[in-house]
Amino acid sequence: MNDRARTWPALEIGPTSDLLLAALTDFDTTAIEEQQDDRWRVFFATAQARDRAAAALRTDFPEATLTSVDVPDENWAARSQAGLRAIRAGRIVVAPPWDRPAASSPGELVIVIQPSMGFGTGHHATTRLCLEAMQHLDVRGRRVIDAGTGSGVLAIAASLLGAATVVGFDDDADAIQSAGENLDLNPGARVALDVGDLRGVALPAADLVVANLTGGLLISEAPRLQRLVAPRGWLVLSGLLEHEEHEVTAAFAPRRVHSRSREDDWLCLTLGE
Ligand code: SAH
Repeated sequence: MNDRARTWPALEIGPTSDLLLAALTDFDTTAIEEQQDDRWRVFFATAQARDRAAAALRTDFPEATLTSVDVPDENWAARSQAGLRAIRAGRIVVAPPWDRPAASSPGELVIVIQPSMGFGTGHHATTRLCLEAMQHLDVRGRRVIDAGTGSGVLAIAASLLGAATVVGFDDDADAIQSAGENLDLNPGARVALDVGDLRGVALPAADLVVANLTGGLLISEAPRLQRLVAPRGWLVLSGLLEHEEHEVTAAFAPRRVHSRSREDDWLCLTLGE
């Protein structure tokens, strides 16, 4: 991400045993990484999930040392991709190529994303919140813009959810390159991808604009984001922290908050007229 370091909730555990590693499958882990000397680092979707697991493991494995850590984004992304697992958000499963679900249940949508240094494997709270918010809106037959598409995950999701047209853009050319590769891994999705900066973008208006950016960018670019929305359209905003909520909603007034979801300190707001 750009302005602000993101961190990932993790537990450092050592020494581990096969029993302890097996016990981890009961919890909502997103990645497991082996370190030196039989120490493991286990990533969780949320700090609450991490704390729940730590409390249970402390009771069942009193001999193990369990330390809660918040791992900076880059460090994590560079070193633990091979351990990434599929995650679920509503009826969408975002899976790395090596952890595609063997069989999908009815109504389930599987999106394959090759983890890369870019943001958007689906393992960050804000990506999952946006995926869930999009499923609460009916995007079938609608035009969708994904501002700051990263890996392309939200754009691909919009297309698989039935959007008529989807445009994803990002000011990072490497992100657009990976988004293109991810599009190839999801042959059912149709997305137009482009390198572009939100601060200068000119696109035809869409019925839904998804923007998982930062609070600061959402506030400064609110007028431009609003111009991208067609009459009676929707905005799904994330990447803002709870303490930025009032400033963000004020920047988008008179649009109203129709729904709001939160994970840890991260928020996702759905705004409409
Ligand atoms: N949509 C993805 C990625 C979100 S990360 C997801 O939800 O997981 C935010 C993305 O916005 C990054 O890929 C970053 O390169 C891009 N971004 C940041 N500032 C931007 C700007 N001014 N214009 C366009 N894209 C921007």
